[in-house]
Amino acid sequence: MNAVVAPTSTPSTAATVVRVETVIVDLPTIRPHKLSVATMDGQTLMLVRVQCSDGVVGIGEGTTIGGLAYGGESPEGMKLAIDTYFAPVMAGQDATRVQALMARIGRMVKDNRFAKNAVETALLDAHGKRTGLSVSELLGGRHCDRLPVAWTLASGDTARDIAEAERMLDLRRHNVFKLKIGARALADDIAHVAAIKRALGERGTVRVDVNMAWDDVQAARGMAALADAGCELVEQPVASSAALGRLVRRFPIALMADESLRGPESAFELARSHAADVFAVKLAQSGGLFAAQRVGAIADAAGIGLYGGTMLEGAVGTIASAQVFATFPNLQWGTELFGPLLLTEQILAEPLDYSDFSLEVPNGPGLGIALDEARVAFFARDGLRKTISVAR
Ligand SMILES: [Mg+2]
Repeated sequence: MNAVVAPTSTPSTAATVVRVETVIVDLPTIRPHKLSVATMDGQTLMLVRVQCSDGVVGIGEGTTIGGLAYGGESPEGMKLAIDTYFAPVMAGQDATRVQALMARIGRMVKDNRFAKNAVETALLDAHGKRTGLSVSELLGGRHCDRLPVAWTLASGDTARDIAEAERMLDLRRHNVFKLKIGARALADDIAHVAAIKRALGERGTVRVDVNMAWDDVQAARGMAALADAGCELVEQPVASSAALGRLVRRFPIALMADESLRGPESAFELARSHAADVFAVKLAQSGGLFAAQRVGAIADAAGIGLYGGTMLEGAVGTIASAQVFATFPNLQWGTELFGPLLLTEQILAEPLDYSDFSLEVPNGPGLGIALDEARVAFFARDGLRKTISVAR
């Protein structure tokens, strides 16, 4: 655990940041999670704690998909950036003015959207605890207390995916299924999707995420075949927003932007060029909770549908996302906030409520959750137990 302590000249009138701590936590997953970019056998969380002079401590999380396989930041890189560059900028600053403090960090730290999101989460958790308000109330107020949650079928095996979907339907945990495709030949992927949709019938809806694996020609063939198979949405089949724009509305299937969406500026560009039907909003990709709300506002103004995305965060990042998504007036495509369910080990004092095909958004102060500190210490990379090696 690294820490930066504020100088002794800290003013005592406002609640100020006195300590910023980070820790890397490695947790096993329930099964290998196969994406076109990586196969994950475990998940690594970077947890940040911001301790304030009024005794309040806020927590945040930074998580990526497959280490550096998905984007330019890794949990280890976030820890280094926060320890070395964020913490000195934050020390001694007013912790109650979160947007002003994030703007100060932004002047000193370029990019690093995932790390900024983790720190902003911790500051808002702290301010919520300080004021007695949930983060969603701090962000303008929630529209709902539960969010629909899709499940991702990504074992790589059709029969195993169907059995997993049947189990989720029986448990009433999920009835929207997202399939990770793009790593295999197009015909194999289409057969896989069609078999799963056929098995589920009207009991469950099927969507796919290609994670940018297709070129234009594959995508045109693929989207036509997916529409025929009864798939309702395809997520980021191609890499660029220009390529998305060449595909949109050519086929009777919704097209969602995910990797192309990197905060409000990219949201505006995608909206201006009519390059997507739906945005997968992710806090980390947006660069924070406030930025994710701005992405949502741009989508609303442009008539683009919204979906609450995940970076496969653990419980802290998942609930930060849920607090933001609950403030969206329109969330036409629900969420995929299932990250904690992919892990074999939980690190919260009280488990999250996943039931009736949805996740409850905690209503207590801040994020409304508390870490089980003993378990965090146990699974910390430099802690008591050396955990699994994570595929990268
Ligand atoms: Mg995606």
